[in-house]
Amino acid sequence: MDEYKYDFFVIGAGSAGVRAARIAGQLGARVGIAEDRFFGGTCVNIGCVPKKLFVYASHFAEEFEDAAGFGWTVGERSFDWPTLITNKNAEIERLNGIYERILKNAGVTIHRGRATVTGPNAIAVGDETLTAQHILVATGGRPFVPDIRGRELAVISDDMFYLEEFPKRVVVVGGGYIAVEFAGILNGLGAEVTQLYRGPHFLRGFDDDLRHFLCDEMRKKGIDVRFNATVECLEKRRGRICAELADGTEIPADLVLYATGRVPNSGGLGLEALGVELNEDGAVVVDDEFRTSVPSVFALGDVIDRVQLTPVALGEGMWLARRLFGGAPPEPFDYEYVPSAVFSQPAIGTVGLTEAAARSRYGAVDVYISEFRALKHTLSGNEERTLMKLVVDKASDRVVGAHMAGPEAGEIIQGLAIAIKMGATKAQFDATIGIHPTAAEEFVTMREPVVRAGDEATE
Ligand code: NDP
Repeated sequence: MDEYKYDFFVIGAGSAGVRAARIAGQLGARVGIAEDRFFGGTCVNIGCVPKKLFVYASHFAEEFEDAAGFGWTVGERSFDWPTLITNKNAEIERLNGIYERILKNAGVTIHRGRATVTGPNAIAVGDETLTAQHILVATGGRPFVPDIRGRELAVISDDMFYLEEFPKRVVVVGGGYIAVEFAGILNGLGAEVTQLYRGPHFLRGFDDDLRHFLCDEMRKKGIDVRFNATVECLEKRRGRICAELADGTEIPADLVLYATGRVPNSGGLGLEALGVELNEDGAVVVDDEFRTSVPSVFALGDVIDRVQLTPVALGEGMWLARRLFGGAPPEPFDYEYVPSAVFSQPAIGTVGLTEAAARSRYGAVDVYISEFRALKHTLSGNEERTLMKLVVDKASDRVVGAHMAGPEAGEIIQGLAIAIKMGATKAQFDATIGIHPTAAEEFVTMREPVVRAGDEATE
């Protein structure tokens, strides 16, 4: 008789958990999974997927305007928020079903309920005690709202997907992915949006040219982006919420969205009692194999606080399942050249090093920039511009960063990410024939590096 009921027990059926459980099941392991909320986790239910649907919805306003220059007359327009929510909900329910089926088809046993780890090889789900040789914590994260007076008046990104009424005037607090994405969505759908960021410029960690460019474009589209703006408190006044800033400014709004980062869901799982080490932010500490300080317990995805991106969580989950049940992968999970997109308006796509990071790593770098108005907008009259940028290590000629702000940036950068991950050089980019007329062809036709003050010193 087997010592344990399961070879692998996964807590959390989000991106990381479902992928790890499915692959382990397909590799012949006896797998159980516990989920107390919805299948597919944040990404499918209250994150990437419905957010992208909202982004599509919000683009139409501009597209109706753009159409006029091409001869179209678009009639009376109106936007109905409940229709969007209803249709979005139906699609998300469909996806929930798919996720559940994926697990069942891989032979994974589903336990509905909240799981706690009660021993190195023991888990409790409700009244049931289960045993497993390996336990995986894949419980993800949740939005964090700083402890200011009136914080209960704010909503978080989770709430945005179920708002009963579409707000007229919104304050968005934060300067990361979620804040800029929702600022664009809300603005596109017709709200008056003020975005407040505490520092000198939002999207910290992204390439500086991109950050400045995006800010200009967002302002052109009508978003009131304010920097060095710290919210002291929120107060309810005459049926509205008033955001009071440190400098005394008061901004009234129907809705205040806090998008100020996410924290790991590591509490209430029995991890501390078991001796699983957490860092000061509550993230589970793991080694190169995603093993925690308790050797039979693993963790990955947002709960380990490395890279909070769905495709990374999927990759980690797959890596671990193969490691445990399919023979050892030769290398540790590779976090180099992870591409990402911000579905701002215009969108951002990025892979590799920012110019600043490349300069500090390699010293001498060449930078190529192309900024232009897309062909479509020569007739649409839309003022939106596109920015593309390549960062090249001068010594090796390797392209070490590609950054874009403009329509379909994510789609374009995904393709480039393959070449860059493979180590493509600028000469190889130059030898690639462009596809005309596209915006993407700019990435293979940039010939003259931009000269920056101080470049001479690095020659
Ligand atoms: P981010 O970590 O991207 O950004 C958090 C923002 O909130 C930063 O601008 C930060 O400022 C600010 N902030 C943090 N604490 C405070 C505070 N106490 N008061 C005021 N501002 C504060 O988090 P998000 O919530 O935007 O998103 C979470 C993660 O989810 C992202 O990091 C990303 O990995 C992932 N995600 C990915 C998406 C995608 O791939 N398109 C979409 C959405 C989310 P500062 O920079 O000064 O610290």
